[in-house]
Amino acid sequence: MKSDALPEGVQAQRQEGLYSVTPRLALGRINPEQLNIINAVVQEFRLPGVRVTAGQRLKLQGIPGDRLDEVIRHLGPVGEFCKYYVQACPGVTSCRLAMQDSMDTGARLEEFLNTFTLPAKVKAGVSGCSMCCSESFVRDIGLVGKKQGWTVIFGGNAGKRVRVGDVLAEDVSNDEALRVIGQTLAHYAANGRKRERTARFVERVGIKAVMAAIS
Ligand code: SF4
Repeated sequence: MKSDALPEGVQAQRQEGLYSVTPRLALGRINPEQLNIINAVVQEFRLPGVRVTAGQRLKLQGIPGDRLDEVIRHLGPVGEFCKYYVQACPGVTSCRLAMQDSMDTGARLEEFLNTFTLPAKVKAGVSGCSMCCSESFVRDIGLVGKKQGWTVIFGGNAGKRVRVGDVLAEDVSNDEALRVIGQTLAHYAANGRKRERTARFVERVGIKAVMAAIS
């Protein structure tokens, strides 16, 4: 099957005829019902296993092409596609160093991000304090919790050409952080080239042009 003919959320593996599916598990949270469904699919289709990805998602691997549709049908809503994922640390839910609620804000950001259609893959990292466990400075969108509010970061990348993101705003509320991110992404959506990641976009247009898009 050609990769452009694959359903959303399905990736062709290196091995001919095998595919993997990465369900949407916002912030890596998974409940018992979802776990049961995934386990049932793995057992019924005798898949070689499930891998936890760096982005806090589960990847079902080794699905033969002729059983792909069945696997997707059995997963049902659990197999929902996630265009843009958010990685978040536990924050105030369990970490004693947390300054902000990274899980709650991360969930809002995940919903918000997935309303956009952007030129390239976008990854976000939400950290509850400046220890930055979600690697917020090397994500396309980063949030870092401080006592007075959130620091908003844009244009980071941890790939082949590492780039530390630029700070767009500091000490802002949840709503203000999402407003800044929304305006920045709208500018990126309108001016980014196809498949141009945010790091390369900022390098090309300059951070001043990005900042000018924020009112
Ligand atoms: S970033 Fe801070 S709040 Fe989040 S897990 Fe790490 S130390 Fe805890």
